[in-house]
Amino acid sequence: MNAFYESLMQRLGAIKLIANFTDREMEALLNFKRISKVELDIDGQKYQAWRVLHNEALGPGKGGIRFHPDVVEDEVKSLALVMSLKNSLAGLPYGGGKGGVAIDIKGMDLKLVEKVSRAYAAAFSDVIGQDKDIPAPDLYTNPQIMGWMLDEFEKKVGHHEPGVITGKPLALGGIAQRTDATAKGGFFMIQSLMQQLELRTSGLKIAVQGFGNAGSFIAKMLYEAGHKVVAVTDSKGGIYDENGLDIPALIAKKAGGQTLSQVGVGQIIDNQAILKMEVDILLLAALENQITAKNVSEVKAKAIVELANGPISADADKALFEKGVLVVPDVAANAGGVTVSYFEWSQNRTGNILDPEYLEKKLKDMMQSTWQRMYGVYEEHGKKVDLRTCAYLLAMRRILEAEKARGNI
Ligand code: GLU
Repeated sequence: MNAFYESLMQRLGAIKLIANFTDREMEALLNFKRISKVELDIDGQKYQAWRVLHNEALGPGKGGIRFHPDVVEDEVKSLALVMSLKNSLAGLPYGGGKGGVAIDIKGMDLKLVEKVSRAYAAAFSDVIGQDKDIPAPDLYTNPQIMGWMLDEFEKKVGHHEPGVITGKPLALGGIAQRTDATAKGGFFMIQSLMQQLELRTSGLKIAVQGFGNAGSFIAKMLYEAGHKVVAVTDSKGGIYDENGLDIPALIAKKAGGQTLSQVGVGQIIDNQAILKMEVDILLLAALENQITAKNVSEVKAKAIVELANGPISADADKALFEKGVLVVPDVAANAGGVTVSYFEWSQNRTGNILDPEYLEKKLKDMMQSTWQRMYGVYEEHGKKVDLRTCAYLLAMRRILEAEKARGNI
């Protein structure tokens, strides 16, 4: 079984007991509405591809598509279920969906990436739609890929439907705020965390694992807010400087084609070392399953924020909780991405163009509201369960309420 899937089942099983959910309720929460799988044939090369719709009680499915060589069905299923929870927790009118292609597109010719993207949209054109299931970017997919997919989908269905996909290029109805939305949402969540724990609002020591769309932007926001980002890593390793790194300079070097460890500043570290650093906040913005039973004893951060999906395993959760490390879970911390996707979708549906300042404020309000509701449940439980459990509880209850209102349970 895929490790992420295993962790998710373990967590949901534990929550059943805490919340006293009935077998019937758990069945409704664990049921998958649709699992679609195809084999894409691109110039004779075969790639496995999925689109999974987990639950749609609250609205159409919503969630990204990832292009990554390790994609397997259980992973896509877990991520779809996590999207149901994330969307529910954020108060969005969406169920959960996810897609993936088992492919390594690093260094791949763009013409080929376009072919894969178009083939994906064509193959799943009957299961996606603005009122069915709405994809967006995820690992190694981006606005250009969403643009190709939208174009292929519209050709296939014969009408315009920009709301079928979010994270699109601006020219096709995307919105500027989507680019750094995950990071910005995470930043607002960190502000709430700092306030709650009465931490300093500048000068905190921070380490960021992952320097892609989420990691690099949030590192920059924290740097600009006066914090000391002492370590950053990308997939090839990274760097450490106890006095803090110049994040904008690193972003510029990366854009010029260098990996972090090639930049020539600080001390070179690897992707494991960053997890063991003595920092105020460790941000996980890379891949799944980074902190597990194997390395959790070495974690020295005071708090951890999950900007990636599933970077901590269920058994590591337990150990971190016992150590008193506060973990802000993915379903809360990285919901900024899908929240801004929702703004984009609303705009596409109504034809109304929303004011950027209004959107920024709305995102902030929504992230803060999630924090307050989640922390409220944490206090109600006498701080005896972790924040993930509190977030899952809220999310599961809202889905069940919708299932009940539909008369499904
Ligand atoms: N892939 C992102 C996530 O995991 C965003 C999903 C979306 O915008 O629909 O939350």
